[in-house]
Amino acid sequence: MSGGASPAGDPEVLVVGAGPVGLCTAIELARRGVRVRIVDRRTEPRTGTRACTVWQRTLEVFDLMGLQVGDYLDAGVPYTHRVHHFTGLPPVTRPADQPGTRYPWPLLIGQPATEEMLTRHLAGLGVRVERGLTAVQLTQGPARVTVRLAGADGSVRDVRAEWVVGAQGPHSSVRDGMGAAWEKTPCPGTQLLQIDARWTGSLPGDPAHCHLFLTEAGSLGTAPLPDGRHRFYAGVADPDPSRTGDPGVAEVLDAVRRVSGVPDLEFHDGRFHWRVRLYNAVAGTYRVGRCLLAGDSAHTVMPVTAQGMNTGVQDAFNLGWKLAAVVHGRAPARLLDTYEAERRPVALALAERNGRTYWGGVGPVPPFALLRSRLADAGAGHTGLTLGYPESALSAGPGAGERVPDAEWDGGWLFRLLGRGDWTVLAFPEDPADPAAAELAGKEASAGARRAGVPVHVVTADGRGPRGTVADGAGAVREALGARAGGLVLVRPDGYVAFRGAVRDGAALDRHLAGLLG
Ligand SMILES: Cc1cc2nc3c(=O)[nH]c(=O)nc-3n(C[C@H](O)[C@H](O)[C@H](O)COP(=O)(O)OP(=O)(O)OC[C@H]3O[C@@H](n4cnc5c(N)ncnc54)[C@H](O)[C@@H]3O)c2cc1C
Repeated sequence: MSGGASPAGDPEVLVVGAGPVGLCTAIELARRGVRVRIVDRRTEPRTGTRACTVWQRTLEVFDLMGLQVGDYLDAGVPYTHRVHHFTGLPPVTRPADQPGTRYPWPLLIGQPATEEMLTRHLAGLGVRVERGLTAVQLTQGPARVTVRLAGADGSVRDVRAEWVVGAQGPHSSVRDGMGAAWEKTPCPGTQLLQIDARWTGSLPGDPAHCHLFLTEAGSLGTAPLPDGRHRFYAGVADPDPSRTGDPGVAEVLDAVRRVSGVPDLEFHDGRFHWRVRLYNAVAGTYRVGRCLLAGDSAHTVMPVTAQGMNTGVQDAFNLGWKLAAVVHGRAPARLLDTYEAERRPVALALAERNGRTYWGGVGPVPPFALLRSRLADAGAGHTGLTLGYPESALSAGPGAGERVPDAEWDGGWLFRLLGRGDWTVLAFPEDPADPAAAELAGKEASAGARRAGVPVHVVTADGRGPRGTVADGAGAVREALGARAGGLVLVRPDGYVAFRGAVRDGAALDRHLAGLLG
């Protein structure tokens, strides 16, 4: 079939690629009532484990998206400690938990389980992944993008969508069609060899922990997986860069033995033994007209710090509400400019850091003693929890752009309010115990939020106040939002502070919202 409408009809948004990022994008759109279709060239989901580390902010994002995070946690293994082994020096064990989140530990779980959870949730929203359809060409018009889909059965059909999101992984026909620059910065002379396997031998340390070995031969990471295997990934010199095929188990084992210095190590039940050629690339732009990029199509980074999928999920979470608002005519298309402005710098910084810090057994040996002494200063950037958007056009007022942590009020959780996926205003009366002050705060805040129809929640000591009032006797919500008495906080649909001001100055909130959505 050529040129006709696709059987399932033309969507408002076509998502190309049903990896974790495309699935998250589709969920974020579908739950906001956008007519979305999602296609994938594969006839079956991928089975390889790839992304196994799910960082704390990603777990929070899944929670805010409405996913059953409890079941997901049960299916994985908590990442409790990381042990650093620098050659010739005593190991350093560092706990992986973080304060200020309901998800203190990262989760170790194979990417197929993550994709399966997302696919199931999307199906619950009425959207099915259409498999065996490859996006081969796209043409942008003033109001629509036409995407040509080649079916696994040899058919060809055109889909016309108002917007297209390319979430196709590193090789992206949407990116090519947009004409976005894609320059790879390779890591020559080195490679990543990985395997998921059971093992025997005298590998040091607690096997329930994640380990990182750094020696003259290269780097080696290990992580326990839910099925009893361990993920091993070794960054080592590549004696023959012309090799393109995946390694045999023996080649991976040899690399792992060399880096760990454990000659009696043996693998059993090994699977997914891969050779990964390392490079970083960030698209020159994330949006051209009605086409957008997310995940590995927007940025492919060396998978050595377990950030690719996590970063892509956050792209989708950032993009979804913005695109939905534009599709529904509730915001101008320029809101989408904030997507690239907020997310592309994250990818650029990640690519720079991975390129600078990766040790793959090639070039000058890093100063291990110095690196070891700096471990305590490493911070929590890798968890995603410290990320914010203070420089964004969406941020106004002191501390705007900060992530809002979850908090328990009397009988509920803040994320349940924020997880509805809309803007939220929280107003704090001058006296949280005075119902008259609560009424006044509600009235003034509502005046400021009226333009966007944003729901207002007054936060009081005992829950007395206008409709939607939240009882926060212990002050946990106030603390989480960094709010003072008489304060007003506008939270973005993706859980970051957009505005901090005073209840009395509802006009400032109104002006801010008008600038963004008007
Ligand atoms: C060995 C390894 C270990 C990793 N470990 C981690 C980790 O621990 N943590 C982490 O965060 N990340 C990790 N990553 C990276 C992570 O796997 C990727 O960042 C993630 O898969 C990106 O998701 P995505 O949805 O953007 O792309 P993908 O997962 O690549 O999905 C893209 C989808 O698009 C489909 N597609 C492609 N082209 C077309 C087309 N033309 N038409 C229709 N469909 C198309 C593909 O079939 C695919 O299903 C690892 C990667 C590797 C290789």
